[in-house]
Amino acid sequence: MENSTYKQNTNQWNEARQKMVATQLVSRGINDRRVLDAMSQVPREEFVSPEKKTFSYNDCALPIDCNQTISQPFTVAFMCEAAQLNGDESVLEVGSGSGYGAAVLSLLAHEVHTIERIPELAQQAFERLRRLGFLNVHVYSNDGTLGVSEAAPFDAIIVTAGAESLPSPYLNQLKEGGRIIIPIGTEHAGQTMYRFTLKNGKLSEENLGAFAFVPLIGEYGWPV
Ligand code: SAM
Repeated sequence: MENSTYKQNTNQWNEARQKMVATQLVSRGINDRRVLDAMSQVPREEFVSPEKKTFSYNDCALPIDCNQTISQPFTVAFMCEAAQLNGDESVLEVGSGSGYGAAVLSLLAHEVHTIERIPELAQQAFERLRRLGFLNVHVYSNDGTLGVSEAAPFDAIIVTAGAESLPSPYLNQLKEGGRIIIPIGTEHAGQTMYRFTLKNGKLSEENLGAFAFVPLIGEYGWPV
């Protein structure tokens, strides 16, 4: 590609990204400055399939390979804000998908561990994150309902697929004061987003509203 065409395209994506931040995030109440900065930096167009690139900054989830989705920008920002990160944390993301959420988290936390049950997606996410320079992200391919015990404990666990209930392995992998952000509900007809916080060894629960995710499939999730 000619240098000037490359610059023009980069500028167009940047403009689309800043517009997305203003019209889809700020206007709907996302106000954590660090989350807004991260969302305005990560090139979502690099995480969608070539034929969907034009829709990169549309206000919706988009299909990716293996019948999965890259989440809506608002959902990614909402979950990141709910995790209350200040930059020092070790975070587990369950459901790497395209790697986009992990890239956003990598700008908000010290270290990100992301796990994906479909090996092909895990490999693609790994290669994409390396190529784009998100080097504080570790990608695993396994059943994320088991957590990642070798990297625990975590300050936050963010689950980007819809669970039937809170997977019990997460309880032993969360630091005191840690947060779990997880959609829980039906397999195909929507979920409620919860924030669980561990205080004095006890989990408290907050309802953060209605969302819709693909199912969390695994030993402590929905059956295959
Ligand atoms: N965070 C992703 C992104 O930014 O592209 C979007 C995730 S997509 C909505 C949900 C992902 O969770 C899918 O890729 C799906 O394969 C994965 N998933 C479902 N069950 C899982 C499990 N038990 N462990 C790990 N990943 C799982």
